[in-house]
Amino acid sequence: MQTNEILALKNVVKTYHLGETKVEALRGLDLVLKKGEFTALIGKSGSGKSTLLNLVGCIDSPDSGQILFEGKDITHIDEISKSSLRNHKIGFIFQSFNLIPVLNVFENVELPLVIQPEVSAEERKARVMAALKDVELEEFLHYPPDKLSGGQRQRVAIARALVTHPTLVLADEPTANLDSKTSHKIIDLLLDLNQKKQITFLFCSHDEKLIDRVGRIIRIQDGVILE
Ligand code: ADP
Ligand code: MG
Repeated sequence: MQTNEILALKNVVKTYHLGETKVEALRGLDLVLKKGEFTALIGKSGSGKSTLLNLVGCIDSPDSGQILFEGKDITHIDEISKSSLRNHKIGFIFQSFNLIPVLNVFENVELPLVIQPEVSAEERKARVMAALKDVELEEFLHYPPDKLSGGQRQRVAIARALVTHPTLVLADEPTANLDSKTSHKIIDLLLDLNQKKQITFLFCSHDEKLIDRVGRIIRIQDGVILE
C-alpha cells in the first residue's frame, strides 16, 4: 500500500438475488482513492454507484474481492468494527437527507456523537456548533427540518456527517433532490470543505453538469470502472 492511499477496492463483486433473477451490480470493480482527493463517481442510474458506496460505508458486504480502508482489510470485519468505522472514520451523506423530523437542527447534527460516550456534553456542543458554522447554519439550530429549504436540509446532513471528524465522506447523489443552482452551491461547499479540512470525498452522481470543478472524475458503467 502507498502511504497516501485511503481506500482501495480490488476485484469487488456484488450480486443481488431477486427470486430467480440475479442482478450483477458490481462485476469485479477496482478503485483507489488517495488521501485528500475529491472524486466524483459518475454513472447512469443502475450502474452500481449506490452499491459501491454502501460497501465502502460498511452498510453492506461484497460477495468477493477486497476493500481496504487506511490499509486495513475491512471486507469481512464484524458488526462492532463496522459501526466503529461509521462512527469515527467514514461519514455518509444521502440523496434524501435522512434527517429525523422530530429533532431540531442541533439535535440532528448531535446524534452521531450522542452514541460516543467518550465525547463529553460540552465537547459535543462545541463540535456541533463548529459543524453548523462550517455549513453556515448556526442561526438555524432550533429549527425543525420541515422549516428548512432542501439545500438547508442537505447542509444539516453534511454537518451531521462532519461532526464525527471523519477522514472519508461518502455522498450518494447528494444533490439529486435539489434544483441546479442549489446543487452547485452544495458541490461548492463540499469542495471547500475538502480544501480547508483535507477531508477525502467520494461523491456520486448521474449528472454530468455538476462536475466541472471536480478534481478527479471516474466513470462507472454496468458495475465496472471505465478507463
Ligand atoms: P445506481 O446507484 O448507480 O443507480 P445501484 O447500485 O443502486 O445503482 O444498482 C445497481 C444495480 O443493482 C441495478 O440494476 C439495481 O436495480 C440493482 N439493485 C440495487 N439494489 C438492489 C437490491 N437491494 N436488490 C436487488 N437489486 C438491487
Ligand atoms: Mg443510487
